[in-house]
Amino acid sequence: MATLPEKFIEKYTRLLGTEAPNFFKTFDEPIQKGYRINPLKANTHTFDTTDDGKIPYGDWGHYGTVSGHAVSHVTGVVYSQEPSAQFVGEVVHPDLGEKILDLAAAPGGKTTHLAAFMQQTGLLWSNEIFMGRAKILSENVERMGVQNVIVSSHSPAELSAKLPQYFDKILLDAPCSGEGMFRKNSAAITQWHQDFPQELAELQRNILRDAVKMLRPGGQIIYSTCTFSPEEDEQIIAWLMSEYPEFTLETIDKLADTHISDGRPDWADKQFTDGQTIQSTTSDHTELKKTARLWPQNLNGDGHFVAKLSQSLDVPVISQTIKPIKSTQLNREQQILLDAFIQESFIHFQRRNRQYVLFGTRLYLAPLEAPDISKMKILRLGIEMGTFKKNRFEPAHALALAIHPTEFAQTYDLNHDDWAKFVHGDVIQTGTDHQLKKGWVLMAANGNGAGWGRYVNGQIKNFFPKGLRFAAKQTADEFIEEF
Ligand code: SAM
Repeated sequence: MATLPEKFIEKYTRLLGTEAPNFFKTFDEPIQKGYRINPLKANTHTFDTTDDGKIPYGDWGHYGTVSGHAVSHVTGVVYSQEPSAQFVGEVVHPDLGEKILDLAAAPGGKTTHLAAFMQQTGLLWSNEIFMGRAKILSENVERMGVQNVIVSSHSPAELSAKLPQYFDKILLDAPCSGEGMFRKNSAAITQWHQDFPQELAELQRNILRDAVKMLRPGGQIIYSTCTFSPEEDEQIIAWLMSEYPEFTLETIDKLADTHISDGRPDWADKQFTDGQTIQSTTSDHTELKKTARLWPQNLNGDGHFVAKLSQSLDVPVISQTIKPIKSTQLNREQQILLDAFIQESFIHFQRRNRQYVLFGTRLYLAPLEAPDISKMKILRLGIEMGTFKKNRFEPAHALALAIHPTEFAQTYDLNHDDWAKFVHGDVIQTGTDHQLKKGWVLMAANGNGAGWGRYVNGQIKNFFPKGLRFAAKQTADEFIEEF
């Protein structure tokens, strides 16, 4: 067995009783990996993932693995995500056109899942407090081709001061003690101590106070953790409902054959879970059965907890108005350069009901629903179109990943050898025996955009971003013939 802290063993032996041996056994078992197919992409057929079967909830999840250098990974057709974590997005289940906040979003597993439901409509606001992690989040959102997103890096308190009563649904996938990840991340074991869950519970309550401020009357909060500790799970929900009586719990459908369990009303009592009383008081908390627990001894995945709460419509509406974002009026020279780029590069350019916003020289197509973001730390605002350079407009990598290849005027289908050259940053020699004209070319792999090239005189200059370049395996097992 992985060396688990003595107090951890003591605690869960007491709480789980006869189930405890099976629970502890899972810490010696291999991790179950998974991934999700991204329905936002033009071709969602993969040839370079292992498929060990469908995950029983949701439309897009599979057990199996994918290499970070695989075509389907680099082109954003798949996102590697642990199977239990995939249940959270299913519980949030955004509707088209909604305004959704993912408050603790890095590295982006849940955010990219929510984007799949939203189908590029409405507004998905993905926030991460730590800038370094927010950059990774932003890269993942780019790879997955999400168009209706704002990525920011703020504390929950900073964000709630800007966006009161703004969102229809808010996901807090909370920073937690990570007990459900002990198998994957041994550092989580080292960090753990008896009072750790209680310390994190304090943080979680603070973040939830800000989440509540950002919810529109009648909206929903979805709270999740990857820990077993009742202090961070049932006890947080019991606290939320007593502090904010306008919230009621929604029943999470545990779905037949998934082996997802009800939450534990008997664990809402802190004294009981601390071992200070022998009997818990269940009567007040039976509602907590509506929450969901994913236990590794019961299903193929790690530990997770999820709760969904709806707010009553009768909460007072605050008067602070949130102004909409201001679109940028391009100057004459910028408009000419942009028009020339669009004319050359698109078959039929669609603004998609979005507005131009310029940050310095970088042009974005922002969601119409976006609020005023002045003085905020924003890493991504809808679709990054490109940059105004001297005498030309250079398309952004994000544009190649966000728009389907059929919309572009020139596409070059990378074969096996070209792919290795392209992701390595090399020039691709095409000769002149083809239809390409001088100009921008969408480099496509297996039917999806992989980045940009620029064709001149028998060769394609490489615009695959320097920071993403790598040496691809040259062996055929990463490819199949039809590629
Ligand atoms: N939702 C993410 C996903 O699916 O990829 C995982 C989020 S992880 C469980 C929790 C996140 O909370 C981390 O990215 C962490 O940096 C962030 N976090 C840590 N301390 C925080 C705080 N005080 N306020 C808000 N977020 C915090």
